[in-house]
Amino acid sequence: HHLTVSLAQRSYPILIERGLLHRPELLRAQIKGRHVLIVSDQHVAPLYLDAVRAGLADLVVECCVIPAGEREKNLDRFGQLMHMLAAMKASRDVTLIALGGGVIGDLTGFAAACWMRGVRFIQIPTTLLAMVDSSVGGKTAVDLPQGKNLVGAFHQPATVLIDTDTLATLPAREVRAGLAEVVKYGAIFDAEFFAWLEQHAESLLALDPGVIAEAIARSCQHKAEVVARDETEQGDRALLNFGHTFGHAIETADGYGGLLHGEAVAVGMLLAADLSAHLGLATQAEFERLGQLLQCLQLPTRVPDGLQASELLRHMRLDKKNVSGQIRLILWRALGQAFVAPGVEETEILRCLERGGAAR
Ligand code: NAD
Ligand code: ZN
Repeated sequence: HHLTVSLAQRSYPILIERGLLHRPELLRAQIKGRHVLIVSDQHVAPLYLDAVRAGLADLVVECCVIPAGEREKNLDRFGQLMHMLAAMKASRDVTLIALGGGVIGDLTGFAAACWMRGVRFIQIPTTLLAMVDSSVGGKTAVDLPQGKNLVGAFHQPATVLIDTDTLATLPAREVRAGLAEVVKYGAIFDAEFFAWLEQHAESLLALDPGVIAEAIARSCQHKAEVVARDETEQGDRALLNFGHTFGHAIETADGYGGLLHGEAVAVGMLLAADLSAHLGLATQAEFERLGQLLQCLQLPTRVPDGLQASELLRHMRLDKKNVSGQIRLILWRALGQAFVAPGVEETEILRCLERGGAAR
């Protein structure tokens, strides 16, 4: 699959292919200057760094391998990258390569946005979440102790190279969490894609090569289109937050301990569908279809026991996407048709949180 993110002079390709990492000429063709900095983490580097380096033997290549995990997406790591670039005497024609999941992609992208006010960077995502979501669209950031993604920039990659074979080593739970974000695109934009996902749930879980590549391509196509329409999230791009306001509240209340992001989003999407049904916007049958698909994909469909509805609502009130003190939710007009719903009554939200998602 070959897609394009259309942004005038900053348009870029997304290549999705098995064994892409073993076609070094594809990566080499995307590099302009003599200097390259590859950033990866300690899980991914032992598996794939050699393959990426192999095609770049004629260049000056430095590698920075950091420990895995969200905690590393911070200003200290960002500073380390800046100092490495300075030590390399990297000029404006340096290329940064992010080889890893969303943590590596966000950190490397932010470094590329800042070094000399912006240099070329290439995304080689190795988690399903990064393939279908974070590597496309140009949002880059690091976290502060006060909150996630508080320091960041919009900086589009020069290209996104997706080798679906890298998913073979990804822990199954991370695969399922990534599938939640795939379901998100069907739920927001595309009832036909949603029905296709229902038909292919088993093959998706089994990482059937043809099926997973198609799911990634269709997801990236939706992401690319919404980013082309609304690069900096003034409008439409906000729809991608379907399930995320609820999901972030669950992640925060839970202390980022129990659930992976995609798992919290799965529960969050179901809460949004439940609220939509209770407000008479979408139907109960559509809510149940979403619950069933998530269950087939072995994703959670209920708020974890022990998280209080009132506590979750409190976190939702603090969401940084709220405007003028109102909780701004993305709800369903119907399955496949999400919309921005400002000013939903807090009592309705609270009742929805108390129901907690799918029936027990
Ligand atoms: P991650 O980068 O932490 O990767 C998850 C785990 O999988 C890590 O332990 C990693 O080392 C390991 N891993 C990665 N690829 C592997 C492979 N092929 N084989 C074996 N192990 C592998 O997490 P993630 O879920 O990819 O990304 C989460 C981050 O993405 C968050 O920081 C989030 O804020 C960000 N994000 C950004 C955007 C955006 O638009 N920029 C969108 C969504 C999420
Ligand atoms: Zn998400």
